[in-house]
Parts: sequence; C-alpha cells; structure tokens
Amino acid sequence: MTAQAEETWDLVVVGAGPAGASTALGALVADPGLRVLLLDRSDFPRDKSCGDGIAPHVLDVLAEVGVADVVDDWAPVRHLELARGDLRVARAMRREAHVVPREVFDARLVERAVAAGAVLRRHRVASVDTDGGTPLVSGRLAGRVVVGADGAHSLVRRTVLGERRQRRAIAIRGYAPTTEAVRGRQVIRYGLGRHPSYAWAFDRGDGWANVGYGELLAQDHDGGSPSRRLLLDQLEGLIPGSASTGGQWRGHHLPLSSWRWDQPDGPVLLVGDAAGLINPMTGEGIYYAVASGVSAGRAAAHSIADGRPGDAGARHRRDVRRLLARHLRHTWTASRLSGSPRVVDAGIRAAARDQHVFDTLVEIGLGGGRIDARLAGGLVRSLIRPPRPTEPRGS
Ligand SMILES: Cc1cc2nc3c(=O)[nH]c(=O)nc-3n(C[C@H](O)[C@H](O)[C@H](O)COP(=O)(O)OP(=O)(O)OC[C@H]3O[C@@H](n4cnc5c(N)ncnc54)[C@H](O)[C@@H]3O)c2cc1C
Repeated sequence: MTAQAEETWDLVVVGAGPAGASTALGALVADPGLRVLLLDRSDFPRDKSCGDGIAPHVLDVLAEVGVADVVDDWAPVRHLELARGDLRVARAMRREAHVVPREVFDARLVERAVAAGAVLRRHRVASVDTDGGTPLVSGRLAGRVVVGADGAHSLVRRTVLGERRQRRAIAIRGYAPTTEAVRGRQVIRYGLGRHPSYAWAFDRGDGWANVGYGELLAQDHDGGSPSRRLLLDQLEGLIPGSASTGGQWRGHHLPLSSWRWDQPDGPVLLVGDAAGLINPMTGEGIYYAVASGVSAGRAAAHSIADGRPGDAGARHRRDVRRLLARHLRHTWTASRLSGSPRVVDAGIRAAARDQHVFDTLVEIGLGGGRIDARLAGGLVRSLIRPPRPTEPRGS
C-alpha cells in the first residue's frame, strides 16, 4: 500500500476543526519531530454552525498543549439562565465560559497547530483505504496513523465503522444584537410544544449574541428533518426577537454520544463529532472534540515512537474511556430522563433551590459531571412535591 503512496506522513489528520487541530497539537507536543499533515476541505477562517459556547473544560485541555490563550481577548460569561415556560433559574456558574465565534476560535487553533509544526493543506478527502497495513488517504497520502476529525458526516467514520444508527439532533444558529435580557448571560429556554428541544441566546460580549434552536430527531427521521422555517419559528417563539433580528443562519446535525463509546483497533482513530462525541443532554461537543483530539494525538505519537502505529487505536480507546466513559454514561442517563418535560421542570426547580444541584447540572451538561445523590434527591423531591408559589427561583 505504501508503495503506491505519493507522500508518506507520520500522522494524517482529516478535518481541521477543534478535534483535528487538537489532534495535531497533542501529537506535536508529545513529539515535536513528527511529520503531521492537517487536511481540510475548507480554507480557514471558516464558519461552522455552533452555539460558540466554550466550556471551561475546553481551556483546561488546551492548557495541556499550551494554547488556552486563544480566547483571552473575548469577555467571559458567568451567568446561566435555564427556563421552561414560567419556571426559571438564573445563577452564576462555578466557572466562567466563553462565547467565541467558531470562525475565530477554529482558525486560531489551526494557526497554533501550524506554528507547532503541522502542515495545513486544503484538500477534500475522498477515501481512506485501510486494507494494506499503512492507511492511504485519497489514494495517495499514506499516514502511519490517520485520524478522522471530519465532523458529523464523517467519511472516515463510515469507512472504519460502516453505517451505524446513532441518535441525532438538528440545530440552527444565527447572530442577533444582544438584548438586555441576554447581556452577560447564556440563556437556555426549553421547548413547550416540541420536546426535547431548546432555544438559546449566548452573549458574545461584543454587542452580538449567538442565537439558535435545536431538537432531537426521531430515530426513523429518514422521512425528513424539520424545515428551516419551523426551526426559526420555534426559536422566535421561545426567545422573541432573536429570529426576527438575526442573520447568518446555518443548520447542522449533531451526532449524540450513547451509553458506550467505541473505537476500533488499528491505525485509524476517530475524534470529536466523527467519533459521535456530543453531549446528548446539551449538544455541547467542543470539549469532547479537543479532549479526544489531544488524546488521539498523544496515542499516535506514543505508538509511532514504539514502532507500533497499529496500536494507536487500542491506546486511544483506553485513554478516552478512562477520561470520559463514566461521565458519558451519566450524560446519557440524564438525557434519557430529560426526555420527560416533568423531569426538566423538576430539574429547574431543584436547581433554583440548591446551588449544588445547579452546579452539578452544569457539569453534566458541559463535560465533567455525574448524577450524584444530592441531584437525584433534589429531582425526586421536586417531582413528588408540587412547587409553592413562593418557591425561590435562583438569583
Ligand atoms: C447548531 C449547533 C450548536 C452547537 N453549539 C455548541 C456549543 O455552544 N458548544 C459546544 O461545545 N458545542 C456545540 N455544538 C457542537 C460542536 O459544534 C461540535 O461538537 C464541534 O464542532 C466538533 O468539532 P469537530 O472538530 O469534531 O468537527 P467540526 O467542527 O465539524 O470540524 C470538522 C472539519 O472537517 C472538515 N471536513 C469534513 N469532511 C471533510 C473531508 N472529506 N475532507 C477534508 N475535510 C473535511 C470540515 O470542513 C470541518 O472543518 C453545536 C453544534 C451545532 C450544530
């Protein structure tokens, strides 16, 4: 297979979003001498449909590869509001988040990967051939390890795992002028009619807010996705003024993570959306993209150093499971529970009563949390005891 290759690289990364750029960084920090090729079908900067919410966990991972400063010139957001109908809680989060347009964030990560030594090339990957030992990308680029970071409709994933059914959501995003109700906040309003669904407005801190709406697709959504009109009508209904004053609309699918995360043995690794790593409760995926990316880069570097690039898949699977498996099982459980509007209401009430419950829900939604006894107890209390009119609603 390598004999047919026009070029041979240590690591070929397909897709240069947060997962791909982090893969390159993870590999090059582990071994600055590696030859890393970073491929993307788009030139950077490029836009990506997203809420632009950067959880603090993202920066923890980026700090490990020395690039956490990419958000430094964007104002942090401290407050989060969760609401469904008349129920509402608004509190300070334990750690601040950022809202940075992906056009900026992704391009900065790519720049840093290139500064670390990666070679960036615009190229739409057409195939990954894994039959002959060393994988061959687009029929001519050999990589001792190849990483699929090519997003929600990943070609690399289909190549190594085949067509697998996976729960998916669909969401649309735009930008609208920041209103007083949203200033300094991330606002999430759960749908009343269509469930599970929510609309969001996240203040970027520069006079604009990222606004959008997403909902879970039925398992048999082959019959078609909701129309753009319907998504925008839902957004306007939940956050009045956002769709009518917004623009730059972009929709996209979200492949939601399930109870168990899988990665095959061998030299082809999957990261980020291509690995189906999106929080099924919130739709957050950037943390999982950078965490699985850095892990894959390290696994590639160490396996190549050992002279056994084919071990990279098993190493990556072990490392990602160690980091995320327990959390992913808890988010999966939380997402199943929140399939019931009554449970969402109970969660909002419990979070309004107890800062710890609020903090735990935020953690589960962003990347590190687990359902603990106090959260479970708060939910049960809220479910069995109807709210009193004077019940506290957070700050
Ligand atoms: C509307 C919406 C809102 C969201 N909001 C948030 C949020 O607020 N916070 C959060 O954490 N997450 C959010 N997410 C999820 C988040 O956007 C993704 O999890 C994240 O982008 C995953 O990063 P990635 O690098 O895996 O994939 P991507 O960012 O999709 O990058 C994949 C890259 O691969 C390239 N590519 C694809 N195919 C090929 C090919 N054949 N050849 C070469 N290149 C290719 C693409 O051009 C792209 O640059 C949201 C998602 C949506 C849809």
